[in-house]
Amino acid sequence: MKLTQIDKVYGKKHVLKNVTLEFPAGKITVMVGPSGSGKSTILRSLNLLVTPESGQYDFNGHQIDFSQKLSSKEKLAIRRETGMVFQDYNLFPHKTVLNNVIEGPTQVLKMGRKQASELARELLAKVGMADYGDVYPNELSGGQAQRVAIARALAMKPQYLLLDEPTSALDPELELSVLKVLLQLAHEKQSMVLITHNMAFAKQIADKIVFIEEGQVIYDGGPEEFFSADNPNGRIKNFIASMT
Ligand code: ADP
Ligand code: MG
Repeated sequence: MKLTQIDKVYGKKHVLKNVTLEFPAGKITVMVGPSGSGKSTILRSLNLLVTPESGQYDFNGHQIDFSQKLSSKEKLAIRRETGMVFQDYNLFPHKTVLNNVIEGPTQVLKMGRKQASELARELLAKVGMADYGDVYPNELSGGQAQRVAIARALAMKPQYLLLDEPTSALDPELELSVLKVLLQLAHEKQSMVLITHNMAFAKQIADKIVFIEEGQVIYDGGPEEFFSADNPNGRIKNFIASMT
């Protein structure tokens, strides 16, 4: 998928300035940059939670022009293919873990409950949460809740998984349990776009790094060059140093 020359304005604030970025299928694109630089706005544009004022979006050859009104059919189709995982999990608190995971497949994909439950159990096993189907979210640690949120997103079988600082709320040992799941998904070639402040993990998992500053793409390339001591961009070097 690809965004071309997108602009987003909130009030008087020009939040995204002529952003052009490609997010290759089967790869892990990691977005980094200072707080408030526009990373979440880009991620939300991919999922159409945010609508840029102008620019184009190419999703598997389907072209969207943001200056035209989007149809709800278009929105739904793209939302299905871009599963979102948020920093604060956003699980349904009154539903068990299993019911959280089957919600999308049963309600949106109209899958039968039995089939959806089988799928959910498979996914919960994959994220190391097989024994927690009957538990409510408030009984889970943050790391466990986030793994359930990942299983829930995967239950819709999205082409892309979009993750907005999925481990920022977690202690290091709980963070590790989530990072392991992401590495496993990367190994399986799940397409992902990940925002993180964990530079060591970004270096480990990224096929491609994007550095955003003040709504602009400052770097778009391989992780080796980005993290190299020879990176000619002093601001990027300072940023990495400040984060590690
Ligand atoms: P990041 O994820 O890199 O921290 P964001 O994309 O969340 O940055 O935000 C970029 C800028 O847009 C920030 O200045 C933020 O305050 C502003 N912003 C984000 N969402 C909104 C909104 N819904 N209304 C007004 N301003 C917003
Ligand atoms: Mg953000």
